[in-house]
Amino acid sequence: MGRKIELAHIRNIGIMAHIDAGKTTVSERLLFYSGKTYKVGEVHDGAATMDWMAQERERGITITSAATTFSWNNHDITLIDTPGHIDFTAEVERSLRVLDGAVALFCAVGGVQPQSEQVWKQSEKYGVPKIAFINKMDRDGADFFGVLEKIRGILGACAMPVAIPIGQEASFSGIIDLVAMQAVFYADNTLNQACDAQDIPSEHLAMAREWRSRLAEACAEQDDTAQDIFLTTGDLPNTDIMRILRAATIARRVIPVYCGAALKNKGIQSLLNGIVNFLPAPGDLPPISGTEDGETAAERAPTDDAPFSALAFKILNERHTGKLTYIRIYSGVLHTGDTIVNSTRQDEQRVGRLLRMHANRSESLTEAYPGDIVAVIGLTKTKTGDSLCDPRHPIILESIEFPAPVMSISIKPKSRVDSEKTMDALHRLAEEDPTFFVKLDQETGETILSGMGELHLEILVDRLQREFSIGVTVGPPEVAFRETLTQPMTGEYKHVKQSGGHGQYGHVCLRLEPLAKSEGFEFVNEVKGGHIPSEYIPAVEKGVIRAMERGPLGGYPVVDVRVVLFDGSSHDVDSSDMAFQEAGRACFRDLFLKAHPRIIEPVMSLEVTTPEEFMGAIVGSIGQRRGRIDEMNTKMGHRVIRGMAPLSEMFGYANVIRTLSQGRAGYTMQFERYETVPIALAEAIIKKRREQNKVR
Ligand code: GDP
Repeated sequence: MGRKIELAHIRNIGIMAHIDAGKTTVSERLLFYSGKTYKVGEVHDGAATMDWMAQERERGITITSAATTFSWNNHDITLIDTPGHIDFTAEVERSLRVLDGAVALFCAVGGVQPQSEQVWKQSEKYGVPKIAFINKMDRDGADFFGVLEKIRGILGACAMPVAIPIGQEASFSGIIDLVAMQAVFYADNTLNQACDAQDIPSEHLAMAREWRSRLAEACAEQDDTAQDIFLTTGDLPNTDIMRILRAATIARRVIPVYCGAALKNKGIQSLLNGIVNFLPAPGDLPPISGTEDGETAAERAPTDDAPFSALAFKILNERHTGKLTYIRIYSGVLHTGDTIVNSTRQDEQRVGRLLRMHANRSESLTEAYPGDIVAVIGLTKTKTGDSLCDPRHPIILESIEFPAPVMSISIKPKSRVDSEKTMDALHRLAEEDPTFFVKLDQETGETILSGMGELHLEILVDRLQREFSIGVTVGPPEVAFRETLTQPMTGEYKHVKQSGGHGQYGHVCLRLEPLAKSEGFEFVNEVKGGHIPSEYIPAVEKGVIRAMERGPLGGYPVVDVRVVLFDGSSHDVDSSDMAFQEAGRACFRDLFLKAHPRIIEPVMSLEVTTPEEFMGAIVGSIGQRRGRIDEMNTKMGHRVIRGMAPLSEMFGYANVIRTLSQGRAGYTMQFERYETVPIALAEAIIKKRREQNKVR
């Protein structure tokens, strides 16, 4: 068969935006103008901004499905979903990991909002080339050049208009294409826009010439030969501008800027041209890197004859098709029926079906090529972030890192019969979301959901209700406190019991050492001379792990510790797995309590945007919650407060801030790191946990 479309004609892109900047509206228009039969739905008559999942279902389209492919001008563009809400960091990161370029969307009135800044930083971390689209040019207060300055100032990006608006606010009627030096007018409120280019009206000519000259100059700065031409002629040929701008965008030195009003169907075709003209094809970027066996570095170039490699970046359980695994192919060709290996889990998997998702249908494929983003059916054991490859040429690609959950809630199904159904539904949701975990607490019989924040868990409970029709009652939220030690400690423990028949004998010498934050747990065996027979070593480790699951202070899991087993002794008859497990457990417990242990808690970074008059009240409310303020700025007439606060104090803060500001302030919150709980508070927590019998 061979590939239908050249690699150079593939674009894998995402749209990054602050919530409400118009991401959904722009995405829909991109699909519509790409010519697929597709009905445009309006967002503004939908409900609140957070109900995108419900909206998606109601419309029966896959616009926020993991990836939607459409074509424009002989190119295949795959739009990868990137959520606008910062609470879903994991979602943002995993999409940034697999896309090649992005459209950064800004509201012509709101400009560079806090979340745009956050997502921008994340995209820089992943080295994603971008073009910008300034949307809502029709709104009162729209200010194209103002927003352009903000993108340059706040984001430090070399943003260069490729199109400038004709008119603003109600008079916004079209754009001037600074490369073609032509004007495009759009009629009001009609979808079927013919967008023929025409001469630039004389009243806009001076402005257009000025910005053309700036564009040419910016390009000339990127290229020596072009510089000479620019210095002699004061301009550059269009082909040079296109070529230089494309290279500079891919190298992330320039951001081409477009504008329009998606809701009024203005400027979308020129944005589509921008995506094709300036964002990279898979082959324009360096080969993907990974390791062959966990150590030896390896690369895979996006060619058909290279060994197959791919990354699974999203799992979706669809009612009709079952489990869909979205993958990005980096190298080699994948066929249906192929046996591939999941190199992250060392597991062979068979490719059942391959699907490409379009706006309103899915297309069955027999094969897929480098650069393709497709959904696979049949990869039962694959999880988000796993590498897939040719069994003869294993490679583990750089995975996506997900933070551990920081809070949990307990839930109870409203009706008894729901229990099994609930667990089943929860496992499906957990499979799709690598930052969401479900656990049955054996002791209390409660179902515990853990995730990244209040909103995250609220949405999951809501999905349980909407998608699976399961009603649950939700218990109070709990913060994921942890225990750790601050000093090394060495000691021994002898577990000896003589009680008729066989006795018990296990003797261990352990050294506990603090590890850096988030390094987890390490067990090192340094026993020499067979003082403890090697068959008992795993039992000691098991005992230590048991002790760590319920920390000796408050019964919270112990983290960031290295445990070195360096000596001990055994007894020919009385030693057993059980005895060594018990010795390991008790020794760890004793030493941990001597090693200056601490309770640590998740601390969130916080950003509040508020009108000036509520500043005092909001700063006070952060102080009351053990928070601290790191920075205060003014942005677009609003005050922006940045700081940190412990998650345990921030439950229900959405309501607090609404009340304090008459609904006019907003905030975002994100897990930052673990910090030590102040002593007095730690003591109170420990006392309470002991009363509740949570400590053994
Ligand atoms: P998202 O949250 O970024 O996905 O934003 P939506 O696409 O849901 O848009 C948010 C709101 O802005 C909706 O009410 C849209 O109708 C409106 N909107 C989107 N684009 C435009 C535009 O170009 N002009 C105007 N005036 N409103 C727009």
